[in-house]
Amino acid sequence: MIQRVAVYPGSFDPVHHGHLDIIARCRPMFDRLVVAVLENEEKRAMFSVAERVEMIRDLVGSDGHCQVESFSGLLVDFLDRVGATTIVRGLRAVSDFEYEFQMALMNRRLNPRVETVFMTPKEDYSYLSSRLVKEVFRLGGNLEGLVPPPVLARMASRLRESGGAGRA
Ligand code: ADP
Repeated sequence: MIQRVAVYPGSFDPVHHGHLDIIARCRPMFDRLVVAVLENEEKRAMFSVAERVEMIRDLVGSDGHCQVESFSGLLVDFLDRVGATTIVRGLRAVSDFEYEFQMALMNRRLNPRVETVFMTPKEDYSYLSSRLVKEVFRLGGNLEGLVPPPVLARMASRLRESGGAGRA
């Protein structure tokens, strides 16, 4: 039987409820979902790739049905490695569309078997981004209901460790 396997890629620095909402919505649509953290060790990242993987695993679990991994290189090559043909992306607003449209077409050009599926989050999360989460957090804003408590706790200790400047 053909398995429907999807990859949900992103930076997830850090994971927030917008991401978790997309994961919850697409889990029932696929036999296997691989949440894939891009290995882009930026200086400005708050968490290492390993920490991001660990936080997502703690929140969504990692079993035969849903896995959390990291990847580098071409996304379509990663899809081949995990036996997936679908990319899941979240669409928040029209501003996401142009970039996502380009990426979807490029990925299909690189591998014609690959399709990109766009999912929209619950309206409450449609303005959320990791960049905004980090900015508001550093300024002391309340992120309750937007970022899971364990992630907020990790952000607080990261901020303390770095004297308020993030990981780098
Ligand atoms: P960000 O840093 O903006 O949160 P990521 O690179 O971690 O973005 O995002 C990974 C995927 O999750 C992308 O498809 C992105 O569009 C999607 N995504 C990010 N935030 C949200 C949100 N609030 N609602 C729905 N999808 C989202």
